[in-house]
Amino acid sequence: MILASAKDITEEAGIEAELRDNMFGLDAAVNGTGMGLWDWDIQNDNLILNDNWFEMLGFTRKDFEKRYEKFCYNTFADYVHPDDIIKVEKKLKSHYAREIDYYRVEVRMKTSDNQWKWILAAGKVCEWSGEKPRRMVGIHTDIDYRVKMEEKLKEAIRRAEESDKLKSAFLANMSHEIRTPMNGIIGFMDLMESPDTTEAQRKEYSEIIRSSSRRLLDIVNDLINISKIESGQIEIQESVVNLKNLFNEISVQFAHIIEEEVRFEIKGADKIPDENILVDHSKLYQVFTNLISNAAKFTSQGEISTGCSTKSDMIEFYVKDTGEGIDPVYQEVIFDRFRQVDARPSRLTGGTGLGLSICKAYIEKMGGKMWLKSEKGEGSTFYFTVPYKPVEHIESDVETIKDKRSNFKKGGVILIVEDELYNYLFAEYVLKDHGYRIIHSESGQKAIEYIRLYPEIGLVIMDIRLPDISGYEVTREIKLLRPDMPVIALTALALSGDRESALAAGCDDYLKKPITKEKLLESLSYFLERSE
Ligand code: ADP
Repeated sequence: MILASAKDITEEAGIEAELRDNMFGLDAAVNGTGMGLWDWDIQNDNLILNDNWFEMLGFTRKDFEKRYEKFCYNTFADYVHPDDIIKVEKKLKSHYAREIDYYRVEVRMKTSDNQWKWILAAGKVCEWSGEKPRRMVGIHTDIDYRVKMEEKLKEAIRRAEESDKLKSAFLANMSHEIRTPMNGIIGFMDLMESPDTTEAQRKEYSEIIRSSSRRLLDIVNDLINISKIESGQIEIQESVVNLKNLFNEISVQFAHIIEEEVRFEIKGADKIPDENILVDHSKLYQVFTNLISNAAKFTSQGEISTGCSTKSDMIEFYVKDTGEGIDPVYQEVIFDRFRQVDARPSRLTGGTGLGLSICKAYIEKMGGKMWLKSEKGEGSTFYFTVPYKPVEHIESDVETIKDKRSNFKKGGVILIVEDELYNYLFAEYVLKDHGYRIIHSESGQKAIEYIRLYPEIGLVIMDIRLPDISGYEVTREIKLLRPDMPVIALTALALSGDRESALAAGCDDYLKKPITKEKLLESLSYFLERSE
């Protein structure tokens, strides 16, 4: 059987054609603006859309024609973010109820690459049948850029406000951080001078003064480093580093700082490859120093271990502790400047909250990543990677310096070029005590003159910041006059890159101020005649 029905749609088809005509007229007018147009016959749920409407979402009309037999309200609604469709319906309702003159709503719509794009949908009912809306026309505008910029701005304002708060907290904390070692220095200096103080006490006090001074120096270094990072001035200075030597250095440096209840271990020390890699030694070392010091600070029992492994084109290092661990909520933010889990000045551990942000910036600048795994109460592991650049040939900086033995003898004549009296007196005291003879120059020009005048000078200790010309220039001049003269650069700048500049100027070694007696004598020993 065939059952058929027929309906006269002349009128409906006529309206639709008329709608489409109107629409195309308007479309021609707005085509260049990229705006989407829609014309909706509400009662029959027929939606007419211009090409821009689809293109705005990265589709073509054909894509939609394949998906929908006819375009209707759902053609639009299916692409609106589920959280926003409620807004759309609310707005339509109040517009139909004539509470608002225009329907206007900002929604996210799904694009062809499955992203959400912000669209402003706006329109107005243009035909009513009695109280019921019959036809509505409107536009779609791409406001994605604007909304995302607004979001970014809001985020920037939030961050600025937060950073402002953090800075105030930082200043309060800083004041505490500086005052504590200062009080240590001033207080114990007074006690040292007291006539009742015994020799044993004096020794103990001078140890407190020394460690307080070191703490102050660390703070100054942190501040210099963070400001260099912020002004984009950090540069990577790669040199050949032997992995085994690196871990040896670390184990020597940290063996003593860790409390007795905590063991410090280099995991699989025998498996650390005796391999040379190209890396920024001083930055890598600083990252280790920071992480291990933190681990020591927050671990009262158990062990701290460190190690490395190579993963295709990266080397992964870690520092693991069995300390107090870090709550997941803080795990991201502790890498931000000034952030500490417990920022109360009363807390026991001290610190400026800069260490980890410096480490992360260094590692990222080197082309690596830094992250952590931690559980409250269980301990933390900080991981970091650097690009793996193996080097065939064994020629580390330290080796080159150590090999630079000269004719300089124990007890020989040393020229100290130093304008700061106390720094000079310290070097003089240490060196005279070890039998060396000293000539002193407070300026660069005078130093060059002395080199000309006194052939007996066997070694130069050179301050870099001098009142007349820089220590680098003086070194260059000296090397012209006496190419074999060992020059040890001594600088208070203590910034990364100085070492390389000093070596480039011809200095044979580089010491950062404040120097210790041990460091100064160790450096001298590199230059003594082989027989000594
Ligand atoms: P500082 O130690 O100077 O406060 P850092 O940036 O080095 O600054 O560390 C920030 C914070 O991260 C610390 O104050 C501490 O709360 C937390 N933290 C860092 N390392 C550890 C660790 N190994 N165990 C527990 N907490 C840690």
